[in-house]
Amino acid sequence: MTTLPETGMSQAAISDALDAFAKDDIDWRDGRSPLYVFGTDPQAYEVGRDAFFRFYSENALGANRAFPSIKAMQDDVLKKCAALLNAPTPEGGVFTSGGTESIFLATRAARDEGRARKGIGKGGGNIVVPSTAHPAFRKAAESLDIEERRIAVDASGRADAARMQDAIDDDTVMLAGSAPCFPYGVIDPIAELGELAQRLDVWLHVDACVGGYLAPFVRDIGYPVPPFDMGVAGVASLSADLHKYGYCPKPASTLFFSTPERAERASFEFADWACGSFRTATLVGTRPAGAVAGAWAVLHYLGMQGYRAIASRVMAMRDQYITDIESIPGFRVFSNPELSIIAFTNQHADVFQIAALMQDRGWLPGLTQEPPALHIMLSLLHEESRNQYIKDLRQSTAKVEKNQAAGKNGARAQAQY
Ligand SMILES: *Cc1c(COP(=O)(O)O)cnc(C)c1O
Repeated sequence: MTTLPETGMSQAAISDALDAFAKDDIDWRDGRSPLYVFGTDPQAYEVGRDAFFRFYSENALGANRAFPSIKAMQDDVLKKCAALLNAPTPEGGVFTSGGTESIFLATRAARDEGRARKGIGKGGGNIVVPSTAHPAFRKAAESLDIEERRIAVDASGRADAARMQDAIDDDTVMLAGSAPCFPYGVIDPIAELGELAQRLDVWLHVDACVGGYLAPFVRDIGYPVPPFDMGVAGVASLSADLHKYGYCPKPASTLFFSTPERAERASFEFADWACGSFRTATLVGTRPAGAVAGAWAVLHYLGMQGYRAIASRVMAMRDQYITDIESIPGFRVFSNPELSIIAFTNQHADVFQIAALMQDRGWLPGLTQEPPALHIMLSLLHEESRNQYIKDLRQSTAKVEKNQAAGKNGARAQAQY
């Protein structure tokens, strides 16, 4: 069919077609995907879904003029999330579509502040980030016409403040650290970066996209979590995604700033338009009101206790995964991740071949290339699948070892996202 059907399809036919489209999708409900989707308890999922569809047609772009409901919910979410992350200015928070948008807006604000304060001309400016920083920083830098400097991390996979300091010059407009970084799940030394940022007068962004709504609760239940939030001196902005460990419907992320002036730099205003003046706090224009309602609903349904209870289950599960994985000869978890992301290397067997065999068994492989390792980001979706995962991992590893011993090489999965 190269054009739309002349007569529309029936809803029943559409429903069948949607099922057919989904048939080759990864079986994420059974824990087969190590990323992209996050599990919470079934009731919280329903609460978020219901709230999302109640505001399915409303547009959060019109929150200020047409939908006080959305404005109220958004303000409330930002206020409560700001408190959770020790952000001093909840009124300056931004509800965005995801980590990428949050990072983009922070980078643009840092660039504009840096250019204004340091007299850097158009096309000038650079940002200094650890090599483990999310590609969203590169995307932002390329789009904003500034240079991105990626600096090697230390042996534990964490940002190396001394090396980052060496890369900073008069044109540096932003430094960044992750809490945690996606590749290894380790938290960068944010306090040290904050000290550096203050000393050299550079904006520090903390990318807590994946950890922001998990780390506070992991700390509450007694696991050690180093300081990473906006309470750390020197932090200028922080991103934290609600659609990850906030368990809220996509698209939903938050961005906070240390001062109202900085928040102001992230917003956009254009007065010279046929319709009059146009102002947004986000990069996108039209955006789903359902995501705002969904976030408000899930956050309030779970409450602090709910998030703590889920964090306990996630961390107990993570500990069990680590024990089980390390019981397979050759495997070792890389470094000492604080939260729910683990990467594990194998001393003898090629992990890319293991990943290919895991893929044959219906698991979407997660991989890192430096060091070569398998990678998983755990949520409640992975509780029930653990035994099967470990069994398949054990068998796949044994098979690769046997092949390697016989001088045979199998297919290799790619570290590709
Ligand atoms: C997911 C993630 C991002 C990007 O977020 P999106 O919502 O996918 O745009 C940025 N940083 C880290 C550490 C992440 O895990």
